[in-house]
Amino acid sequence: KLEFMERTLAIIKPDAVAARSTGAILQRAEGAGFSIVAMRLVRLSKRDAEGFYAVHRERPFFSELTAFMSSGPSVVLALAAPDAIKRWRALMGATDPAQAEEGSLRREFGRSIENNATHGSDGLETAAFELNYFFRGLELG
Ligand code: GDP
Repeated sequence: KLEFMERTLAIIKPDAVAARSTGAILQRAEGAGFSIVAMRLVRLSKRDAEGFYAVHRERPFFSELTAFMSSGPSVVLALAAPDAIKRWRALMGATDPAQAEEGSLRREFGRSIENNATHGSDGLETAAFELNYFFRGLELG
């Protein structure tokens, strides 16, 4: 049953929304067996992006990354599937689209290591934090 399946927070980033790839990416997600349990189009403020990426505060690209993530609307999603976290990251491919596997979302839709089309939680604790960052308990069914 859906409510017992693992969930991951996924984001269709501003570059992919601007390129009108939202529909294609959603189709890939559903085609790969993920169920959409919550979804919203959001325009993050710089501050929202900083809060979301707080763990990356010390990284050299933090300022660029949060500027990019607040540069236009994103689609935030809660996706459910068995082993959703690992499987969504596999479907996305490597962070840098140039290194990402053939057929992966970032290879197909990403343009650079920053403009890489999608986000996915990297572990159970991160997923809990990230899902809670965007969705209220009730919205997650
Ligand atoms: P992910 O888990 O694959 O998303 O990768 P990371 O957690 O390492 O990085 C978070 C996000 O920061 C990535 O998805 C990229 O959008 C961005 N990013 C990663 N590395 C770089 C970099 O070297 N330069 C810039 N500008 N952005 C980066």
